[in-house]
Amino acid sequence: AIDFGIEEALRKLGLNQINEGTSTGSDNFGSGETISSHSPVDGALIGKVKTTTPEDYLRVMESATHAFKEWRLVPAPQRGEMVRQFGEKLRELKEPLGKLVSYEMGKSYQEGLGEVQEMIDICDFAVGLSRQLHGLTMHSERPGHRMYEQYHPLGVVGIISAFNFPVAVWAWNTALAWVCGDVCIWKPSEKTPMCGVACQNIIAEVLKENNLPEGISCLINGDYKVGELMTNDKRIPLVSATGSIRMGKIVAQAVAARLGKSLLELGGNNAIIVTPDADIKMTVIGAVFGAVGTAGQRCTSTRRLIIHESIYDQVKDAITDAYKQLRIGNPLDENNHVGPLIDTDAVRMYEAALEEAVNEGGTILVEGGVLKGEGYESGCYVKPAIVEAQNSFTIVQEETFAPILYLLKYNGPVENAIELQNGVVQGLSSAIMTNSLREAERFLSSSGSDCGIANVNIGTSGAEIGGAFGGEKETGGGRESGSDAWKIYMRRQTNTINYTTELPLAQGIKFDL
Ligand code: NAD
Repeated sequence: AIDFGIEEALRKLGLNQINEGTSTGSDNFGSGETISSHSPVDGALIGKVKTTTPEDYLRVMESATHAFKEWRLVPAPQRGEMVRQFGEKLRELKEPLGKLVSYEMGKSYQEGLGEVQEMIDICDFAVGLSRQLHGLTMHSERPGHRMYEQYHPLGVVGIISAFNFPVAVWAWNTALAWVCGDVCIWKPSEKTPMCGVACQNIIAEVLKENNLPEGISCLINGDYKVGELMTNDKRIPLVSATGSIRMGKIVAQAVAARLGKSLLELGGNNAIIVTPDADIKMTVIGAVFGAVGTAGQRCTSTRRLIIHESIYDQVKDAITDAYKQLRIGNPLDENNHVGPLIDTDAVRMYEAALEEAVNEGGTILVEGGVLKGEGYESGCYVKPAIVEAQNSFTIVQEETFAPILYLLKYNGPVENAIELQNGVVQGLSSAIMTNSLREAERFLSSSGSDCGIANVNIGTSGAEIGGAFGGEKETGGGRESGSDAWKIYMRRQTNTINYTTELPLAQGIKFDL
C-alpha cells in the first residue's frame, strides 16, 4: 500500500489513538462511551473519541458562560486579532488537516485542502469584519434627540455540524461568532469526530498563547442526544445546525419551543438548467463535477439536469461519455476523481435509491453498483450513476446523498424548466447554462429560481465565502459566511438619546402632569 502520510498528519494535529472528546479550551475530558472512527478510504481505525455526558456538558457550559463575560468586553478588532492568528495556524497545518479531512470523510485530498482553504478565507473575512460591525444612525422625529442602532455580542452559540464538511462549517460559524464577541460550543458529526478534536487542538493553542479565557471555544462529542443538550438549553440563544431536513425540523422545533434562534443549513436538491443556448463543453464539466465531486455528498451537489429537448441527446451523450473517464478509488491518490461514500449505510441508501428510480419508471443510462476487490475493501466505493427520470418521481423529489444524477427533459420556453427546478421542497443551489441574456435574467428574476443560490454558467456546487450561503424552503432559510450573515450572531439594540431639558413624546402625543 502507498503511504499517504496519515500517521504524520495525525501526529502534527495532536491526535492520539484515544482522545478526550469534551474540551473547554485546552482542558480535555470526557466520561461518556467511546466512538471509533473508521476511515471510509480503507476501513482502518483512525482513532477513538470519548463522548460527552450530561455532567460533562454542565462543565462545558459553565466554562463557556464564564468566558463570554470576559470575551464580550474585548474590543472587536482585538477579537479579530485572535481570529487572524487562528488563520495563520491553519495555514501552517493546511496539509495535515486537509489530509485528515480526506481520510476521515472520504473526499479527495484536493477537496480536503480546499476545505481548509475555506477556513482560512473566512478567518481573513472575519478579521476585516471585526472593524466593520456597523449599525445605522437615524434622524429622530423629536428635536434634540439622537437615534442609532448598535450590535452587541449575543452569548453562547451552539454549533451542530454534518459529516460532509467536517471542519469548514465550524469555521464559517466560529470565525464570525468570535469577532462578534460570542463564544462557541461545537458538536461535530459523530461520523467525523477526529476532525473535531483536531480543530479544537488548533484553537486551544491560540487561546493559550494569548492568555484568553479557555471557554471561547468548546467541543462536545456524540450523537443526536448530545446535540439535544444544546437545542434544549435556554442558555444558548442561537443554535446553528447543518445537516438533513429531518434533523432540521426536530432542532427548529426544540429551539423555537424556548423561543431561541436557529440558523438552519439543510439538504438541497440542486438542478442545472441546460437551455438550447448553452455551451455544451462548460455544461459537461460543471455537471460532472457537481454530480460526482465529494461522491455526490455535498449539500450543493448537482442532482438534476433539466435539459431542453432540442439538445437533450447531445448533452446526454456528452455526459455519459465523460462518466466513462471517471476513476474511482483512494481519494488521497490524486489520479482518482471519485472517492468513497461515508459508510456502508450510505451505500445501502444509494442502492435503494437506484432501485426505486427504476421501479418508478426511470431508465438507467450509466449503471451504478458497489465496487469490490482490491482497493475497495472498506465497502464504501460506488459507481456514479445516471438515470433518465421524471421530476414527479418520489425518489427525484428527495435528496439521496450519493453520486446519482437524474436527467429530466423540458420543452418550450425556459419558464417550463424553471417550474421543474422549483418543483421540489428544497431550495439551496441552482444554475442555468445559457448564452441568452433573456433566459439568464429570467432565471435570476423574481419569477425565476427560488433557491438561496442561483448561478449563471457555473455549476451548483462550490460557493465562495464572500457571499451569504444558505437556502430557502426546507433547506431552512439560514445564511452563513459572507455578506451580512454576521448579524445573526449579534443582538441588535436601538438607542434614543435626549440631550434637551424637555421630554417630548414620539408621534406628538401630549402627556402633561
Ligand atoms: P444529519 O442530519 O444526519 O446529522 C447532522 C448533525 O445533526 C450531526 O451532528 C448529528 O449528530 C446532529 N443531529 C441529528 N439529529 C439531531 C437532533 N435531533 N438534535 C440535535 N442534533 C442532531 O446529517 P449528515 O448525514 O451528517 O449530513 C448530510 C446532510 O447535511 C445532507 O442533507 C446535506 O445536504 C446537509 N448539509 C447541508 C449543508 C448546508 O449548508 N445547507 C451543508 C452540509 C450538509
